[in-house]
Amino acid sequence: MNQSNNFSTQNEQIKASTSSNKLTYWMALLTVGGSTLGAVIAGYQLATEQVTFLDVGLLLLFYFATAIGVEAGFHRYFSHSAFKGSSFTTWLMGILGSMAGQGPVLFWVATHRKHHAFTDISGDPHSPMLHGLSILARIKGFFHAHIGWLFSNELASWGKFTPDLLRNRAIVKINQSYFSWVLIGLILPTLLGLLIGGTLEAAFHGFIWGGLFRMFLLDHITWSVNSLCHTFGTKPHKLKDNSRNLALLGIPSVGGSWHNNHHAYPIGARNDHQSRWQLDLSGLFIEFLGILGLATQIKRYAPTKLKESKYE
Ligand SMILES: [Zn+2]
Ligand SMILES: [Zn+2]
Repeated sequence: MNQSNNFSTQNEQIKASTSSNKLTYWMALLTVGGSTLGAVIAGYQLATEQVTFLDVGLLLLFYFATAIGVEAGFHRYFSHSAFKGSSFTTWLMGILGSMAGQGPVLFWVATHRKHHAFTDISGDPHSPMLHGLSILARIKGFFHAHIGWLFSNELASWGKFTPDLLRNRAIVKINQSYFSWVLIGLILPTLLGLLIGGTLEAAFHGFIWGGLFRMFLLDHITWSVNSLCHTFGTKPHKLKDNSRNLALLGIPSVGGSWHNNHHAYPIGARNDHQSRWQLDLSGLFIEFLGILGLATQIKRYAPTKLKESKYE
């Protein structure tokens, strides 16, 4: 290849990466902006005593369904292969995780695997530890880890971090149809609100509580695993990184906040290493899938297996 061809190829690559960075930026703005608007409306409805049991029921149903999709699906199944699943399992976990609105599955997994490859060192997409030691620098780092990283220009390469998933046709299809799943995640609670509540007002409440506000809550809990769980909490495993167990978020993160345990044994399907009281709803859900025959070869924690982890 001559020099001018070389330059034009490089220019095309730069253009492609700039446009995908722009797309990521606008996706992040839409996710954060839309869900925050939903939280403001939900706050207003709460303050004016308009909230019904149906609203809360739809919030809990769609919150925990999509939280399991993210933690048991996007995280333990797709990012770490903590168990093997049928194609039904792949579609179920892929759809529920996509409905959370945290980005397409390949984006999510590539970013997360990069986090494990460079935990709390240069190259980590969302570490709170890399901005300096002053109080101001720590606050800046915390903000970056929580939400700022979504708007950064550094995308984790899918070719480098998700070659196995790019070979899986079902996952590529789920990734391509990401926006449809997000939309379905908003339409379903709206329809249920209309069918059960019987009014357009109930439908709108379903859209807010089971849709946008649910998305707001889960997004911030998931991002808290990146920010809070690399800042506050206990470190029963003495690791080089700053990952922590934060019991306070155990239930809303459906087990994801036992994050020091997770970094100690990332390929594990269970995060309850020290006690069965470390409630790990995703781990229990995976066990339930196992009973149904939808999850096999479930990797449970064993200290002797610590060195087997691929993305540690
Ligand atoms: Zn981490
Ligand atoms: Zn992980």
